Amino acid sequence: MRIPATRGECGRCGYRATRAAVRKHLSVCTQPIPEAKRAASRRLPDVPGLLIEVVGRPKAYWLFLAIAHDAKLSDVDALLRATWLECCDHLSEFAIGSTRHTSQPEPPPIFSSRPRAQSMHIEVGKLRLATGTAFEHRYDFGSTTVSDLSLVGPLPFAVPSKSAIVLAHNEAPGFACTACEAPAAWVCLECDGPDGEGFLCAACAESHECDEYLQRPIVNSPRMGICGYAGPGAG
Ligand SMILES: [Zn+2]
Ligand SMILES: [Zn+2]
Ligand SMILES: [Zn+2]
Ligand SMILES: [Zn+2]
Repeated sequence: MRIPATRGECGRCGYRATRAAVRKHLSVCTQPIPEAKRAASRRLPDVPGLLIEVVGRPKAYWLFLAIAHDAKLSDVDALLRATWLECCDHLSEFAIGSTRHTSQPEPPPIFSSRPRAQSMHIEVGKLRLATGTAFEHRYDFGSTTVSDLSLVGPLPFAVPSKSAIVLAHNEAPGFACTACEAPAAWVCLECDGPDGEGFLCAACAESHECDEYLQRPIVNSPRMGICGYAGPGAG
């Protein structure tokens, strides 16, 4: 499905622009993290952190994350799940170079040349990623949703210890109902195609003849329409 490029907003100062411009902006924006996002770790000292860009497939879906040096890969995994992935607790992994870090440890391979996966319980700062390093996150090894991550560079401000925070998120792309052009609320997996033929507004969904079970809500996520994904917090 083709989706036009989206804009997004810096969650601290409200600067709104394309992904490339938001990337530049976040490398210099020093507005503090809102108190609401700090509550859980208020007593911990602030530490240096990394600015990480996350691009979904399609690329219209994107995020920028602030990750404290002492946060773990598993914290990044949890944030990605909470933001745009979690449907039914599938396994996930990061692939960084030739190393895989999985959400569940594997038994040692018996007759396999594939290197054994590492745990996600490793502090991000200890990975010593160079600026510009690209790596992948994969959620669900059946109907896999791949997110492409890259290290933009150090954050221009300190963040609460062990925190992983969304700094910016693309605005939801709008989809029009295939039948009547009204804003779509559902996508029918039976009718879906490369040109987005399966979009339905609430009214047209009522009279749509495909099985209701095949209709998924429109959500701002690259996992829209996949497995049972129904949006953040619905998994
Ligand atoms: Zn800003
Ligand atoms: Zn699922
Ligand atoms: Zn309609
Ligand atoms: Zn249909």
